[in-house]
Amino acid sequence: MTTSQKGNVFIISAASGTGKTTLVTRLVNHNDNIRVSISHTTRAPRENEQHGKHYYFVTREQFSSLIEQSAFLEHAEVFGNFYGTSSAALTEMCEQGYDVILEIDVQGAEQVRKAMPEAISIFILPPSMAVLEERLRNRQTDSKEVIARRLSEAEQEIQHAFAFDYIVTNRDLVQAESDLLHIFKANRLNLANQRTAVEKVLQNQ
Ligand code: 5GP
Repeated sequence: MTTSQKGNVFIISAASGTGKTTLVTRLVNHNDNIRVSISHTTRAPRENEQHGKHYYFVTREQFSSLIEQSAFLEHAEVFGNFYGTSSAALTEMCEQGYDVILEIDVQGAEQVRKAMPEAISIFILPPSMAVLEERLRNRQTDSKEVIARRLSEAEQEIQHAFAFDYIVTNRDLVQAESDLLHIFKANRLNLANQRTAVEKVLQNQ
């Protein structure tokens, strides 16, 4: 890292099929100072998903035990599976100066906002419900029943967008990635993150 500045936490939520994971992967691959927090989940791995890279895949018993140990900053049940964000890993990455993305659902976002009011929240919006439906069908990773359930839940999830700090519409991947990066960069320049810089100038250091 080129800076001793502490990193910030960015919550990124979206209805499934909006392209959130693709956008987050691109941001992380293109920016050395941005990392994504790896969640724990009780969901079964999809094809090509690796333990420790996409998720930490755990049993329900292991997940319950982590809750008992207060290991999670937030946790939620989404589509019948449990998901949680580890507090320790998150704090460590921020201390090291990385901006850390929490790619979590709207319930998790609400919990993190309460526990960490300084976190910045971004909701990724599909261009329309029709486009979202088409993207979910093209993904072909989930069964028809799962797609139908996710579509009906998508509208409810989008209702939560009003509670977020920023809204980015994923009409075009490159444009949406650029919009996200602008939010990250602007946040590094806010007073809370630049206070020390101002003080140094005033102290002639
Ligand atoms: P998927 O199973 O498709 O990877 O994720 C389903 C949903 O769970 C997505 O909205 C995803 O953002 C959310 N999710 C993934 N990890 C976490 C987490 O640690 N906490 C919460 N609250 N939601 C998560």
